[in-house]
Amino acid sequence: MPYEKRADGREMNELRPIQAKVGVVPNADGSALFGAGKTIAIAAVYGPKPLHPAHMKKADTGIIRCEYNMLPFSVTERARPGPSRRSKEISMITENALAGVIDLKRFPGTVIDVQIMIVQADAGTRCAGINAAAMALAHAGIVMKEMISSVAIGKIDDKIATDITKEEEDYHDGEGPTDIPFTITSNSKEITHLQLDGYIQTHRFKESIEAAKIACEKLNEIQIRALKGEEIDENKEKEK
Ligand code: ADP
Repeated sequence: MPYEKRADGREMNELRPIQAKVGVVPNADGSALFGAGKTIAIAAVYGPKPLHPAHMKKADTGIIRCEYNMLPFSVTERARPGPSRRSKEISMITENALAGVIDLKRFPGTVIDVQIMIVQADAGTRCAGINAAAMALAHAGIVMKEMISSVAIGKIDDKIATDITKEEEDYHDGEGPTDIPFTITSNSKEITHLQLDGYIQTHRFKESIEAAKIACEKLNEIQIRALKGEEIDENKEKEK
């Protein structure tokens, strides 16, 4: 049956209720929680610190090392703990999405370790992880050229939908589900990460870029508020 309305009552261009908070892992140099609906990620940053093994050191620059993992009970069917092809791929795209906004040349010979844990998954976990990691890096006091925000855009019955859930990601509209995660910088609006799973026509793809830009602006405002010390939970705000 075609989607008349999104299953959770959202408008097509509406984000899920967002949660954002920094300082959730006191022993890390910087940390943050980011949630969108039932998807929740925690990121912890350690460093910049001397890089071991020493042969990986780069004399003129630092490196960033990201590790994305899902808790076994973050999904309905228990996810197998430990690295998988999927987690390695997501760790790599997260590293690439973040590397462009950090001036790694300021930290030669060092590593910045970013640990991302998906506590609960309902699609968009790579985006939630990137949002949490960007906040955690800023919280660690690491100078960033600009902030980044990430959102997954989907296509449901030929309509572009912002911040899709697992149910929406799996919805088959004849062409198959379409999932397009974007990561966009806050000032220059550059795309530092873009993936496409599924099919989309050129004009719909252009619409999805616009939807991602608007969503990332909203996300950026929330990330900045959290970095200023606010504890954001739009689930609670909705209940009031
Ligand atoms: P993303 O979480 O970034 O959207 P995917 O498209 O790979 O990445 O995954 C979509 C969703 O599928 C996840 O958010 C999660 O809800 C679910 N999922 C992913 N891996 C597993 C797994 N091993 N077991 C059960 N569900 C999973």
